[in-house]
Amino acid sequence: MDKSKMKFIFVTGGVVSSLGKGISAACIGRLLKRRGLHIFSIKLDPYLNIDPGTMSPYQHGEVFVTKDGAETDLDLGHYERIINTSLTKESSVTSGKVYQTVLDKERKGEYLGATIQIIPHITNEIKKRLYDGFNAKGDTDVCIVEIGGTVGDIESLPFFEAIRQMRRELGYENTFFMHNTLVPYLETSGEIKTKPTQHSVKELTSLGIQPDAILLRSKNLVDKASRKKVALFCNVDDEAVISVKDVDIIYEVALNLQKQHLDDLIVKHMNLKCEDTAYMDDYVKLIRKIKNIKKSINIALVGKYVKLHDAYLSVLESLKYAGYVYDLNIDITWVDSEVLESEDANEIFKNVDGIIVPGGFGNRGIEGKIKAIKYAREHNIPFLGLCLGMQLSLIEIARDVIGYKDANSTEFNPETTHKIIDYLPNQYKGIKLGGTMRLGEYDCKIIKNTLAYALYKKEDIRERHRHRYEFNSEYKKDFEDVGVVFSGFNPQTKLCEIIEYPKNSFFIACQFHPEFQSRPLNPHPLFVGFIDAAKKVKLN
Ligand code: GLN
Repeated sequence: MDKSKMKFIFVTGGVVSSLGKGISAACIGRLLKRRGLHIFSIKLDPYLNIDPGTMSPYQHGEVFVTKDGAETDLDLGHYERIINTSLTKESSVTSGKVYQTVLDKERKGEYLGATIQIIPHITNEIKKRLYDGFNAKGDTDVCIVEIGGTVGDIESLPFFEAIRQMRRELGYENTFFMHNTLVPYLETSGEIKTKPTQHSVKELTSLGIQPDAILLRSKNLVDKASRKKVALFCNVDDEAVISVKDVDIIYEVALNLQKQHLDDLIVKHMNLKCEDTAYMDDYVKLIRKIKNIKKSINIALVGKYVKLHDAYLSVLESLKYAGYVYDLNIDITWVDSEVLESEDANEIFKNVDGIIVPGGFGNRGIEGKIKAIKYAREHNIPFLGLCLGMQLSLIEIARDVIGYKDANSTEFNPETTHKIIDYLPNQYKGIKLGGTMRLGEYDCKIIKNTLAYALYKKEDIRERHRHRYEFNSEYKKDFEDVGVVFSGFNPQTKLCEIIEYPKNSFFIACQFHPEFQSRPLNPHPLFVGFIDAAKKVKLN
């Protein structure tokens, strides 16, 4: 596309990290989308990993997977859920990817003997990726770009330099810089402090970037006098200083930004042709509904990263959305699978209404997860297994119902005789793989008269994957003989996608990750079914 038609909003942060600038970026996207504009989002991550795929969830929280199979930062999940859109691999740019591209080109001699430097070679590659991102979907009106980390970090300097150059290339009216800072409250003197914001903006301007709006994150609303002060000291218009106070429900941020007319400001600055206001009534209604919820149910989440809840962010969000359908809050009992191995399951699960075993990798804690599944199956507790959760359900049933005591996945024991879950490269005939993992969206056909069909109410679905191992279909008949129903499969390869155990009232597990597609106003049917079943346990 002709560059003169491209419009970018750049979202930066200062003072501290974890300010929630991803949420602000997503909320602005929501407002602009509701004014009829097509939005694309990009997250720039300054770390040197190529993607977060190989990072420990303890470092980085969950790995979010896009439709086209990119393993990305969890902020992309916020964008997808809040804006209600689906993003692509162009949405995730890391320093690792940028440097790798430049160095590969250098080795191929594509720079014709030039000295390769941060400016212009790295910055050009960053800009290229932003322009490619803008064009990725073909209909983008505005692209929102968030820069990870805080202004002044060594790693993020090339990103700031690239966006500075972009204002010169695209023009003032086609670029909007939105800087997020923290406004602390001092208990002792009872006042809020704007000095860190002033310093952070000074840091930003020293990189050649003058913000067009400043978003002040604080516990309470920042008063008008303080906002005026920030405007004066930081050289922005009064109405461009926005207060982003802490909220209970993140969607409220969108409404608070709208109240302060941040979207109007952007529309005016960028001369955008769109609706006069963003329709947000359904959001208002949802928030009101959530605030009135009085009852809750208890779901046990069994995993090995339970100390960092962000490691299961999309699963938690999906559970919440399903709870809203029935006016229920979800209390989570966090069960460390490794600890569970040596604990009494009766004690741990005594007050839970449902058990969920989400995805995971590696040996640690596996037997604890199998123990949780056994408990759910034997005590008829509603059970939902996701990805690894499905593989382990089959292993549990193989061991305890069929009688293959050594049943396992070759991921955990390559020598075992009963390789229920296995890596079989020829199992992928007919589909394209991203590397050695099945990544991104694949078709699934659902068999009628099954629980899966009752939940999805259709035969053809597409769901996102992120795994290397698969169910070994040589064992299919053994499972069917003990009552397991294979209710979903990939039509191209016949790989197993969904299993259920109808002897229990609700026991279902899938090879894919439904949590990546659940939306606040459109919760995923598997989660809705699970919460519905768990609610019935509570009533009994
Ligand atoms: N470790 C399993 C595999 O690679 C499951 C992965 C997951 O749960 N995402 O197949």
